[in-house]
Amino acid sequence: MAVNSEAYLTIKSWLDARAVTLVAVSKTKSIEDILELYNLGQRDFGENYVQELVEKAAQLPKDIRWHFIGHLQTNKVKLIATYVQLIHGVDSLKLLNEINKQAAKTNSVVNCLLQVHIAQEETKFGLDEKELTELLNSSISALQNVRVCGLMGMASFTADTGTVKKEFRNLKRIFERLRTNDSGLTILSMGMSADYKIAIEEGSNMVRIGSLLFGERGKKQTENQNGR
Ligand SMILES: *Cc1c(COP(=O)(O)O)cnc(C)c1O
Repeated sequence: MAVNSEAYLTIKSWLDARAVTLVAVSKTKSIEDILELYNLGQRDFGENYVQELVEKAAQLPKDIRWHFIGHLQTNKVKLIATYVQLIHGVDSLKLLNEINKQAAKTNSVVNCLLQVHIAQEETKFGLDEKELTELLNSSISALQNVRVCGLMGMASFTADTGTVKKEFRNLKRIFERLRTNDSGLTILSMGMSADYKIAIEEGSNMVRIGSLLFGERGKKQTENQNGR
């Protein structure tokens, strides 16, 4: 097994001291690997594939808080809406409407983050600042079964830390601008294995870390822009 318990404990206490929530990204990793971190106390886990999340959730302890961090298709919402802790990558009204509709069936409220496009790469998912503002000013407050509780973003995949820093700073600026008293926006999800320290310096309060905890993912898994 490739789980790095020592790294986990070090990172976890470093994050705890800064009041930053750790989402352990377990995509492609086994039930045994996840249980290993669970047994060290980890409860927040992140997955990118609906099918994978559904299969793992069925086999793992019920007090795990599952985060969906991939690109969610509307036709898959119903498979996770009843138990997911937080959906990080919402980037359209259409998707919010569908989440609302599915959550309404069980009278629940699903927590969502709106994904903001901050990287230079064209292909990353997410809303630009104008689209985000429009969405927040639209009729979403009428959606009784979704709670938009923050923003999520991914920096460019580059070794240029200056660029990464600038992108995270931009997202933090947007977050602060939109975070009025009654906005309900409290979570800023930014930072992964390679850039979480920069993200926290720039104001992140939730990081999504995979490879530092679980080891590198296999090369077989072709990764798209959302890490799939
Ligand atoms: C895979 C993934 C991560 C974790 O990436 P690591 O580099 O392994 O830490 C974080 N966020 C998203 C959206 C991902 O797809």
